[in-house]
Amino acid sequence: MQFDANKRGLFKARKTVSTDNLLPWVISAQTFLDNCTQCGDCLAVCPEKIIIKGDGGFPNINFDLGECDFCGQCAEICNEPIFTATTEQPWLKKAFINQTCLANENIYCRSCAESCEAQALTFQLGLSAVPKIDNELCNGCGACVAPCPTKAIEIKE
Ligand code: SF4
Ligand code: SF4
Ligand code: SF4
Repeated sequence: MQFDANKRGLFKARKTVSTDNLLPWVISAQTFLDNCTQCGDCLAVCPEKIIIKGDGGFPNINFDLGECDFCGQCAEICNEPIFTATTEQPWLKKAFINQTCLANENIYCRSCAESCEAQALTFQLGLSAVPKIDNELCNGCGACVAPCPTKAIEIKE
């Protein structure tokens, strides 16, 4: 979902961010847009290098580059009042599988399940079973995104 701060009439310059790309533990899209100075400290500290300079220069998560291991370093390095305590739940993101999954073409693939440490991705018996996601187990880490050959997995709230 795209959050547009201009709709609240708060900024002259357009500031938007997709809530799907927000960093873990960010309080809200509005708080992020109001307070992020685009200093880049969170990009530099992320051990997984999944934080990129996104639209408008704001930091974004990009799961094509890897997964979040929830180390909390991005939230801890930030000097602005943007993040909750890292003892809280990092985000509400979950994985969703779209129609491009190879199982829909009767092609065998288990790449996503093999990358899921939480074991949230399972297949029913049979060659072309479509993967199922257990929302109770999925933490939105994004580890299943990059290994998917057809970009069938999206991480969003
Ligand atoms: S460390 Fe904080 S202020 Fe700096 S770019 Fe990251 S979120 Fe924005
Ligand atoms: S919690 Fe750690 S791995 Fe996840 S985005 Fe922040 S710095 Fe990167
Ligand atoms: S986002 Fe992480 S926990 Fe959720 S299904 Fe993908 S690999 Fe598993």
